[in-house]
Amino acid sequence: MTTRIDLGEFSADVVKKDIRNIHLSVHPPNGKVRISAPMRMDLGTIRVFAITKLAWIKQQQKKLRSQERETPRDYIDRESHYLWGRRYLIEIIEKNASPLVELKHKRMRLQIRPGASELAKQTVLHDWYRAQVKQAAAPLIAKWERLMHVKVSGILVRRMKTKWGSCSPDLATIRLNLELARKPPDCLEYVLVHEMAHLLERTHNRRFVACMDKFMPKWRFHRDELNRLPVSHQDWTY
Ligand SMILES: [Zn+2]
Repeated sequence: MTTRIDLGEFSADVVKKDIRNIHLSVHPPNGKVRISAPMRMDLGTIRVFAITKLAWIKQQQKKLRSQERETPRDYIDRESHYLWGRRYLIEIIEKNASPLVELKHKRMRLQIRPGASELAKQTVLHDWYRAQVKQAAAPLIAKWERLMHVKVSGILVRRMKTKWGSCSPDLATIRLNLELARKPPDCLEYVLVHEMAHLLERTHNRRFVACMDKFMPKWRFHRDELNRLPVSHQDWTY
């Protein structure tokens, strides 16, 4: 059930869920504010929480407005697509065979069945991006498990509209946005370290920041790099 609360300049949708912590997020494209709150939390408390985040909400909304929208893809020849921050020109090859994606020099060859729809092309490409992220993440997880003395039990790569990653500390599972395959490899490593740090500290508190400073002193640089891009990892959980 969704309740709308008025915060002056804008309103926020509140959804009560079976969760322990209140969570506030700002969503593209219009900067809609959504709050997930524990079942028993009253609206007054939720409102006070939201008011303490007003400056941050405004900052996020401003950022969303200024971000250039990512142009929709048509999957036509010579369109630009990215892998690990490098640009490739797509080449569509229609063939009665299993769909596949391969890189040849500066070309990304997308082999699809004759007459395949845009959605079918997108699905093939997304599956391939997902595999790229999984493959790249595995050695990084092993490396940071050793350095951080944590253990990741599972990883899921999927399309996520508002986050680069998320972590379920209780299950020790991490979700990654498949869009990370398009960004420079440092971005993937930063998101992984951030999510793995949630295995040590679940909230974005001072202890969490100290942990990031210790393991990845330049994390702010990577965060800013990601925040220039349309999907934002920024979120608040308390
Ligand atoms: Zn986080």
